[in-house]
Amino acid sequence: MASEHMVAEAPNIWAVAQQQFDAAAEKLDLDDGLRRVLRVPQRELTVHFPVTMDDGRVEVFTGYRVQHNLSRGPAKGGIRYHQDVSLDEVRALAMWMTWKCAVVNIPYGGGKGGVIVDPKKLTLRELEGLTRRFTTEISPLIGPERDIPAPDVNTNAQTMAWIMDTFSMHHGYTIPGVVTGKPIAVGGSLGRNEATARGAVYTLRQASKELNLPLKGARVAIQGYGNAGSIAASLLHDEGSIIVAVSDSTGGIYNPKGIDPSAVSAWKREHGTVVGFPKAEGISNSALLEVDCEILIPAALENQITAANAPRIKARIVAEAANGPTTPEADDILHERGVFLIPDILCNAGGVTVSYFEWVQDMQSFFWTEDRINESLRQIMDGAFTSVLGMSKLHEVHMRTAAYMVAVSRVAEATNLRGLYP
Ligand code: NAD
Repeated sequence: MASEHMVAEAPNIWAVAQQQFDAAAEKLDLDDGLRRVLRVPQRELTVHFPVTMDDGRVEVFTGYRVQHNLSRGPAKGGIRYHQDVSLDEVRALAMWMTWKCAVVNIPYGGGKGGVIVDPKKLTLRELEGLTRRFTTEISPLIGPERDIPAPDVNTNAQTMAWIMDTFSMHHGYTIPGVVTGKPIAVGGSLGRNEATARGAVYTLRQASKELNLPLKGARVAIQGYGNAGSIAASLLHDEGSIIVAVSDSTGGIYNPKGIDPSAVSAWKREHGTVVGFPKAEGISNSALLEVDCEILIPAALENQITAANAPRIKARIVAEAANGPTTPEADDILHERGVFLIPDILCNAGGVTVSYFEWVQDMQSFFWTEDRINESLRQIMDGAFTSVLGMSKLHEVHMRTAAYMVAVSRVAEATNLRGLYP
């Protein structure tokens, strides 16, 4: 028998991405031909490739690289390793990258890649083999002037070092600008590791001013305790916010009096999970989204805030560190309930912004100080927030549609100015 609490089937995120684009295109009264161009990716590459496993078996994996739009510059976007990766997911993520780069006004188009794999089941050597062969298979598309990958879920600085090395081996010389999010020792940028979370916190500072809701003393719940989530927890803790709940793929922890992020990170390093942290009680990932708090930060995967749970979310601000955590139906419910949403393409754009700084530094072989990086990031994030908020007030639309309107109009202008070839 169907339970009344049964959760609706998760929507296809590619359909969601197109729906979000359609809403902005409608508001902007975009030309029909341009809508058809921007609604689909420009290039999609699917690769099936072999990897020799440690026991001598040969496994074949499937991966993708999608470039959505290149009007404003080379494609930019992460590579994800996850068992649920699909072409539709990569398409959506690539399209979101186009809008994200345009919102913060950096000279890139959108790209994304992924491999269908549960990396936790592979050894380090197998992961290296998988990464090097995947790089080889997508190498016709990538390069510093063409398409620049970066880390995403389950990939990290080490993965980027392997990609950079493989690509450089093919060319016979070191090409650091082919990927960003590299270790500092091989052309990475200071501040890149913290950039997504730091950018999100800059947008939260702006939102807190707009809503007159000080970050100091604000209660924060964070879903996902990886790069984005754990660093956001530390930075907000430093701002004086109270981190009441955090979670990872294995479950969550809750303490209304506050959780010390550095102690949780130490626990997670030792035990591989936040679960079991002694100074908090257990909480499920779905219950975490509904706890009493002022700020909710989804920092894990897509489709977490849906029509089913949006009516019960208590936060006043939802800051989307993750890509695509909220469905369009949930967007409308949150908006009607007066929840202020900082949309993903704005909130988590700090990562790609410092990736851009890394690429600029690599191309010039001249490296900036961390202070310069953080200050330049702040200026870009504050400017982007102001543009989106202004658009939202001018057209009386919620922040997601406003962010799309800012982004789509910039991409449309570039596409129009370049014209159609041939
Ligand atoms: P990560 O792999 O470092 O961390 C992901 C975290 O989410 C882990 O703690 C994992 O355990 C947790 N998680 C996975 N499935 C979960 C589930 N079902 N419920 C709760 N937690 C779950 O990845 P990341 O780089 O922090 O990326 C997180 C999100 O932020 C993604 O949506 C990614 O696209 C987005 N993002 C990341 C960056 C970046 O620079 N790292 C930039 C922009 C956007």
